[in-house]
Amino acid sequence: MTTETHEFQTEVKQLLHLMVHSLYSNKDIFLRELISNASDAIDRRRFSALTDTALAPEGEFRILLEPVHDPRQLAVSDNGIGMTHDELIENLGTIARSGTKDFLAKLKEASASSAPGLIGQFGVGFYASFMVADRVEVLTRHASEPSGHRWVSTGDGSYTIEPAERSEVGTTVTLWLKDADPEDALQDYTQEWVLRDIVKRYSDFVAHPIQMIVPKAPASEDSEEEPADKGAENKGPETLNSMKAIWTRPESEVTDDEYKEFYKHISHDWNDPAERICARMEGTVEAQALLFLPSKAPFDLHHREMARRGVHLYTKRVFIMDDCKELLPDHFRFVKGVVDAEDVTLNVSRELLQQNRQIRAIRNFLVKKVTESLQRLLSERREAYLKLWAEFGPCLKEGLLGFDDKKERLLGIILAASTHHDTELTTLDEYIERMKEGQDKIYYALGSSRVSAASSPHLEAFREKGYEVLLFSDQVDEVWLQTTSTYQGKTFQAVGKGEVDLDQDDEKDDKEERQKQEDSLKDLLNCIRVHLQDDIREVRLSKRLTKSPACLVGEAGDMSPQMEDMLRQMGQEVPKTKRILELNPKHEIVEKLQGVFDRDPAAAELSQFARVLYGQALLAEGGQLPEPAEFSRLLSEILVKAL
Ligand code: ADP
Repeated sequence: MTTETHEFQTEVKQLLHLMVHSLYSNKDIFLRELISNASDAIDRRRFSALTDTALAPEGEFRILLEPVHDPRQLAVSDNGIGMTHDELIENLGTIARSGTKDFLAKLKEASASSAPGLIGQFGVGFYASFMVADRVEVLTRHASEPSGHRWVSTGDGSYTIEPAERSEVGTTVTLWLKDADPEDALQDYTQEWVLRDIVKRYSDFVAHPIQMIVPKAPASEDSEEEPADKGAENKGPETLNSMKAIWTRPESEVTDDEYKEFYKHISHDWNDPAERICARMEGTVEAQALLFLPSKAPFDLHHREMARRGVHLYTKRVFIMDDCKELLPDHFRFVKGVVDAEDVTLNVSRELLQQNRQIRAIRNFLVKKVTESLQRLLSERREAYLKLWAEFGPCLKEGLLGFDDKKERLLGIILAASTHHDTELTTLDEYIERMKEGQDKIYYALGSSRVSAASSPHLEAFREKGYEVLLFSDQVDEVWLQTTSTYQGKTFQAVGKGEVDLDQDDEKDDKEERQKQEDSLKDLLNCIRVHLQDDIREVRLSKRLTKSPACLVGEAGDMSPQMEDMLRQMGQEVPKTKRILELNPKHEIVEKLQGVFDRDPAAAELSQFARVLYGQALLAEGGQLPEPAEFSRLLSEILVKAL
């Protein structure tokens, strides 16, 4: 018999270290995690047995808890699908969730008070056992194999695996419990009443019986605590949970705590949900849905493959699959819950789901319900919506990508920063209500942050003339704004793109003056264009600027430099878009430049001045100078002359 020793993946080592020196005050949840895993494994075996009856167990599916007083141990067994040798390594030796490294780095920096929240967001599952045990043994046999394996670890850097006999398919996790705090009987997990209480609290609704095998000789202190135990010597297994599918019970009969624990069970999130949606679909397709909006985004929400444990699909109380992606669009991937459909074929495969008419109908229903719930939160509990928006706003905005005509509903619930407020966020409807008379466009500015968008020179004329501008700074914003032309009949217009004409009702005299400026500055503009022709497509006079001398703008369909950079970072080849340099004809610099040009159109400094103006315009919008050293040298030369 060979025993292999394996090193844990570095991330797991770090996580185990955190668990052993537990940051988390509520240690009881280790049991909830083990029971959830056991229940998932049973669901998987039951589902596989639908198509291969050889995989079904002989008896009933069940989860067994077996406390032992001396030595102090707790075993949690299931007759679920089990794990193969390779699955043991994969599942209990590594963490395959992308972004784990970054998450752990963040956790390291976090203060002691915020760390438990972060851990909760991550949900450490099986590893939570190391909060209460200093040795964990997993004896498991996969349904497809004749014998099993034993995995053992003491929570330090490594674990061992060896072949082991197990008469039945399934998994037993045995914990060698750390010494209980004598002051705190509640944390003695060998006590029947403690276990009974934890199961009731966290796992009552689990669909499979959770049974306890009561030790033959109960500890003496136990009999005082729990006289109802009737003192029998050889008690058979006792079922601790009611097993009632929570979504089939009337809402009025289920407590908030029960819903919260159910949410944690299915989502593996350790935080309470922000909102719950109970909905019944009636008509040709019938289904019951119990969905939750989480209060915290999982750390890997923005990693592509993140979509685990979204909505679980059941049919007539029988589990079909977890993470049924077809039930909700990607931008609602943070929604968790259960859908129980009356007649979806039991062995429906993932491939067939997309074409399934009932699933499509249920999806439309769920999208409507989730959107309505978000709308309600926004209009009735703005504070709660703001919190949710901070977590899931960028994710929701992904729903606006593409050219879908159903965007209007989603546009109604997006929030944006605006020049109207310093810190608050506004809805598009509120923006429209505040629009100036005759204004038919929704103006917006893009930037890497609210502050940088707000300080862009593009906004100068808008500010001066009292037009409100929305400020967008999420990566996804530019993309959805490019494919979204209107909301409530008003066109979206970037303040940094195209020609701006806020002067429609200006006096005729102003227009004439402008024409004069254009005529007299024409040759200077052309001269600057020639000097900057590698970077600039055109030089023109600006109607946007009132304070700055120059700014850079694009044509309506152009990509912004930030977007170009983002695509390049993603490995795409993007040709450089030449932009337009706009000059402020009323600015002293432009007036003086004209003077230099009038004296000598071929003056060498004109090239220097043009490059500095261009660099300044780049800096003002928060951009990067292509050659900072060259810019600095030019500036020094100009300063020397000026001084
Ligand atoms: P999570 O449950 O969040 O995926 P865990 O660390 O709790 O993370 O478990 C990791 C994986 O190990 C599970 O996804 C599952 O594949 C496997 N696993 C854990 N416990 C069991 C069990 N009792 N039976 C079968 N597989 C299990």
